[in-house]
Amino acid sequence: MEINRDKLSPMMQHYLKTKDEYPDCILFYRLGDFYEMFFDDALTVSRELELTLTGKDCGMEERAPMCGVPFHAAETYINRLIEKGYKAAICEQVEDPKQAKGMVKREVVRVVTPGTTLNTQALDETKNNYIMSLVYIDEIFGIAVADVTTGDCFLTEVNKSRKLLDEINKFSPAEIICNEPFYMCGIDIQDMRNRLGITVYSLDNWYFDDELCRRALLEHFQVKSLEGLGLKDYDCGVIAAGALFQYLTETQKTSLSHMTTITPYITDCFMLIDSSSRRNLELVETLREKQKRGSLLWVLDKTKTAMGARMLRSFVEQPLIEEESINRRLDAIGELNEKAISREEIREYLGPVYDLERLVSRVSYQSANPRDLIAFKSSLQMLPYIRQILGEFSCAELVSVREEMDDLQDLFQLIDRAVLEEPPLAMKEGGIIKEGYNDEVDKFRRAKTEGKSMLAELETKERESTGIKNLKVKYNKVFGYYLEVTNSFLSMVPDTYTRKQTLTNAERFITPELKELEDTILGAEDKLFALEYELFAQVRETIAKEVLRIQKTAKAIARLDVFASLSVVAQRNQYIRPKINTKGVVDIKGGRHPVVEKMISNDMFIPNDTYLDNNKNRVSVITGPNMAGKSTYMRQTALIVLMAQVGCFVPAKEANIGIVDRIFTRVGASDDLASGQSTFMVEMTEVANILRNATPKSLLILDEIGRGTSTFDGLSIAWAVIEHISNPKLLGAKTLFATHYHELTELEGKLSGVNNYCIAVKEKGDDIVFLRKIVKGGADKSYGIQVAKLAGVPETVIERAKELVEELSDADITSAVKEIAADSALTRGTRKKAQVTYDQMELDQISLLDTVQDNDILEELKNIDVGNLTPIDALNTIYRLQTKL
Ligand code: ADP
Repeated sequence: MEINRDKLSPMMQHYLKTKDEYPDCILFYRLGDFYEMFFDDALTVSRELELTLTGKDCGMEERAPMCGVPFHAAETYINRLIEKGYKAAICEQVEDPKQAKGMVKREVVRVVTPGTTLNTQALDETKNNYIMSLVYIDEIFGIAVADVTTGDCFLTEVNKSRKLLDEINKFSPAEIICNEPFYMCGIDIQDMRNRLGITVYSLDNWYFDDELCRRALLEHFQVKSLEGLGLKDYDCGVIAAGALFQYLTETQKTSLSHMTTITPYITDCFMLIDSSSRRNLELVETLREKQKRGSLLWVLDKTKTAMGARMLRSFVEQPLIEEESINRRLDAIGELNEKAISREEIREYLGPVYDLERLVSRVSYQSANPRDLIAFKSSLQMLPYIRQILGEFSCAELVSVREEMDDLQDLFQLIDRAVLEEPPLAMKEGGIIKEGYNDEVDKFRRAKTEGKSMLAELETKERESTGIKNLKVKYNKVFGYYLEVTNSFLSMVPDTYTRKQTLTNAERFITPELKELEDTILGAEDKLFALEYELFAQVRETIAKEVLRIQKTAKAIARLDVFASLSVVAQRNQYIRPKINTKGVVDIKGGRHPVVEKMISNDMFIPNDTYLDNNKNRVSVITGPNMAGKSTYMRQTALIVLMAQVGCFVPAKEANIGIVDRIFTRVGASDDLASGQSTFMVEMTEVANILRNATPKSLLILDEIGRGTSTFDGLSIAWAVIEHISNPKLLGAKTLFATHYHELTELEGKLSGVNNYCIAVKEKGDDIVFLRKIVKGGADKSYGIQVAKLAGVPETVIERAKELVEELSDADITSAVKEIAADSALTRGTRKKAQVTYDQMELDQISLLDTVQDNDILEELKNIDVGNLTPIDALNTIYRLQTKL
């Protein structure tokens, strides 16, 4: 609606002025006991939250659309809006309405956005809630990412949009802020919003001003130079981080004192897993249901604390590539396995440890309540025991955990002395501070209790002097203390009583003496409550000053929790310690799929071996009917390699894992359909990505490449891909390649490094039995009809299919393939070599010959009179031209 501001009431004018300052937020405007929204905000909120839309007279002819929520329930409504990707600006009354002269003063006190919400109840505690700042400057992406609920903050730079997408997928932030050029750099922002559910905003240019950003960081971290923060070489990263800190300060409106560190990292320090491979391997959630159950993390996560759960998730999302760091982690798990009793003891002590990271953030934000401090205290109580047990361990990781873990007993004692064991949630109604902590508190408390016994004395005295037997001293919030006399005794009430209130069956009175007593009692109470709050705030302040120590301890606990969890999982599931090598040999004996083995009934999983290296065993072409277990086998290999590099024991009898730099998987494309591309297009885009970005040190899992198109095209593409991958001059990456095209088994022995494997099945009459065992050699049949039968396809269709198979013999394809493959002494590498032996003259002759022929054809094409050509003539001409090629 058209708004004429001059006509509006002063309050509405103020509302709109405030709204101007927060145009992209829903403005929650406090009016008494409600937050109200007006105009477009009201329309949006009433639609999104299904609230009733009303109107408010605002001075104009039309009423302003309005909707509101009660202030005490506001958090729920705000959270629902945040979940839907909105931002909310909370405008509070910042002075007491009773004391206000004229309009009550109101100000925005915080802005809540998906990536900056502090409402930990609404957040998943096992996941970080990240906000990411992205800048695109001179073809470099600067990335800064932070979790305000824990204080974690990281920064990096990448030079390709693919790598950027990998980082986005790794952190999966709730919100992204970016500069304008980022909007233009070709990244599909809509896809990020729709598919990944990330709120994306571009901020004004000034946020990204070089100087302003540097200053924001220097001021926040109180350092003289960025070198001190290790950020010297991150020009774009610094801008991303600077903008992020400015944005956070603006939304949180506090000092962010718990954001104590910013950690630069290099993406090349971790195994690179691109976004579709992450999804395909179901590392932290399943492909279809997007839930943790059924993912690798689900199997590995037996952590006891929220901090541990978050760290384990980041371990799984960032496998290592450095032998020594991997072995350090494996050592820790090994030692925890050996000392399982101590480990269990540690886990028991970890149980009651609260989320220290989020707790300390609330402490810094001054939003922690007395109960939070008690939770904090009971966590701290566990630390000395944990440290003590850790003393038994000698591996490097666990020693460093112990060193970094401060037992924080000073804080424990402080809270223990100051705060009562079961304080109320409310902070301003007393009942917080322990006796003996502060003399004044004790004095006020005494006055309060003494006052109360004086009240009892007064009651007895009045009863005696008036003879009213059931006279009672009572209290309510409106009148304070009063004397209550039931109607039957009213005649006995003396003149010295002043009547205050008449009820149906009684009357209420006060006396000067009673009021005097009331002043003492309530005065003491007011002072007591104020003092208790002040003392509580001081304790909180003292804790806030120790944020660095607490955060460091929290990280150490998280690490310990992760190792303990991995150790428990390893023992329960019979995992073994993998050997790690840098020679590129992946040798797994009796490997199992960590998730599938959990999903099927006891011990039914059939283990399988894998052997890949950089020489004769680069590419395994795996055939076998559908449902035989090809993709399970391939994924299990990828997962075992990945787990080993996470530093985790693996489901196998023996494993020697050559570190891989990247894992690529190309499996079904189900969840990409939403992005509007055809299945085949998605498949080919992924293949293109893999072929361009894989290195000889990568591990490739390719399932049914070329399935989405015609048989010949598909087969040819699959074939060419294998040629490319297996050729060390072109790529030479270790690859498991499952295929339906049995023709590809012809490549074994003809392309170096390519070997055939198949998953064995046994024929039983008309049916087949899956043996789930991988064996050398190619499958000779695809058993499609038998599998269709198993799946319950009607008998008539099955019978007809059998007849057709007989007729449609694919002998032709097979013989053609055999021919080419036999010719494969002429495989790409060798064919090239053959050409190299031609001398230049011969080459020139060949190309000359080609040119002459081409010119002929072109000439003829030019001379065709298309207008006078009948369709039959056209066909004949094309045929003739073709035969000349
Ligand atoms: P394919 O890729 O050949 O079509 P899958 O790998 O999808 O087959 O396996 C089909 C099913 O077979 C899986 O869901 C799993 O339950 C079972 N399976 C696969 N491998 C094994 C195994 N090694 N041991 C036991 N069951 C298995």
